[in-house]
Amino acid sequence: MLFHSPFPSIPIPSVDLPTFFFDTIAKRTVFGRKPEIPFLISEQKTLSFAEFEKFTYAFASGLANNTGLKHGDTLLVVLPNTVYYPAITLAAQMAGGVVCTANPQYTARELAHQLKLIEARAVITIGSKVTAIKKAVKLAESSIPDSFIFTLDSENCIFDVLSAKPFPRIYLRTKEEAGSTIAFIVFSSGTSGNPKGVMLSHRNVVANILQNGAFDNTDVMRAKRFTEIEETPHALAFLPFFHIYGLTCVLHYQLCSGYALVVMAQFELEKFCQLVQKYRVRAALLVPPVTLGLTKSPVARKYDLSSIVFAISGAAPFSRELQQEAQKVLGFPVCQGYGLSETSPTVARATMSDVVYGSAGRILCNMSAKVIDENGKELGPGEVGELCYCGPNIMVGYLKSPAATAESIDSDGYLHTGDIGYIDKDGYNYITDRKKELIKYKGFQIPPAELEGLLTDHPAVLDAAVIGIYDDAQATEVPKGFVVIRPGANKPGIVDEIHSWLSSRVVSYKRLRGGIEIVDAIPKSTTGKILRRILKERELQKRMAKL
Ligand code: AMP
Repeated sequence: MLFHSPFPSIPIPSVDLPTFFFDTIAKRTVFGRKPEIPFLISEQKTLSFAEFEKFTYAFASGLANNTGLKHGDTLLVVLPNTVYYPAITLAAQMAGGVVCTANPQYTARELAHQLKLIEARAVITIGSKVTAIKKAVKLAESSIPDSFIFTLDSENCIFDVLSAKPFPRIYLRTKEEAGSTIAFIVFSSGTSGNPKGVMLSHRNVVANILQNGAFDNTDVMRAKRFTEIEETPHALAFLPFFHIYGLTCVLHYQLCSGYALVVMAQFELEKFCQLVQKYRVRAALLVPPVTLGLTKSPVARKYDLSSIVFAISGAAPFSRELQQEAQKVLGFPVCQGYGLSETSPTVARATMSDVVYGSAGRILCNMSAKVIDENGKELGPGEVGELCYCGPNIMVGYLKSPAATAESIDSDGYLHTGDIGYIDKDGYNYITDRKKELIKYKGFQIPPAELEGLLTDHPAVLDAAVIGIYDDAQATEVPKGFVVIRPGANKPGIVDEIHSWLSSRVVSYKRLRGGIEIVDAIPKSTTGKILRRILKERELQKRMAKL
């Protein structure tokens, strides 16, 4: 059976993201009337709405004039969270460009993987990253000239290319144009293999902003609290803007909802609490390990967090126990949200006034869902299977991977998420397991196939497998590696050697924090597929034996 959203459908305008963004904000009295109000705040720099708008237009024009960026060209953005992030991405889109975001902590090897796929015209980064980017450009055999690598804080600075000249502004006014023109490429490994470029259209992103907005309007408790607020509400933006959760939910949705954003370049619990107290922060989009920190850490008790009236934990499994404890300790509910890069990202959410513990809530408006068994048969309420969703926020597809796209989106337009769960008779979604390979460390993606490929490049490693194991103490999965050592290559200290060899090749969150175990053989199917499920079961048994 199909499960339809319980919320009434809304019209999705056929418009590009920058036009939608500026039109929406102009309609919000608070910024519309007072453009000098701080809009994006950080310790280093605060931008008022007027400054933000001026910079966006000047940069769009400067980018087009200096790089020739035109409709369909891609800009790679390799930046930590900064108050300039949304202006840079909107400017590139205004000039007709596609924005691809990358983790600024990535190694040259990881950046090269993205560069190879996207064929970027230019890069925006910070000075300390330029060497790694130049190395990545070489590795990827990309044609980006050094002069098209711009920085925010160093040589070839973006502030030197601002221009007030008119630029070739895009206006996507038909459903087809808005639906087929790509606004963002974010990277996700999907259900298997290496990271792939998820193509999100302007319409995908605009739809998800509006779907989230329509959902919040149904939240009676939030609406009531908001009528009591006269000053500009603040939201805390620590989720990385290169990841879809930080990008669409925080940057676009929260700014379009009238929040001013307090931007953190790096998460640090005490700083987070200080900023909540200082700015009387009302909304906090969280991930489970941060919710755990806020709930358990004595540091958090030193600060007044009572201004928060809207908190969501998403991007990774969120246990019922932690959710209950968080509400008890914090005094406000932390709702669960669920989504994927491929869904722009929000699929389902709980509301503050209607928290069902352990559930990711109900699907947003304009969406429908089905749960299928291994043979593709549709299941009924309460029956566990693969969760599949359809709606205007489902990606256009994976870049240059028609086969992976066809495997993910079926002929009825449903995205097969690779997540296991069920939907109850009242429409509440529960995520119980994952069928796909993906491991999530604190909300960050770790594709096991990527680490396995790297491990087998180590001269002493004959074969390798990587699985995720759950670490209750940190409320996150951690990756654990299994390696078969080549005959004669085993020696004291080999595990440490492999650890440090791998660590120099990957961003820190992909390190094998769950350990490396030497095994005689990696369990495989007759077709040579790694049977990660067997390794997971063995780990579970070991854990049970310890109890
Ligand atoms: P990403 O594309 O990085 O946002 O990762 C999407 C994946 O994160 C989903 O397919 C899930 O496996 C996982 N995920 C997101 N939200 C939740 C949640 N509330 N509970 C469990 N897993 C989640």
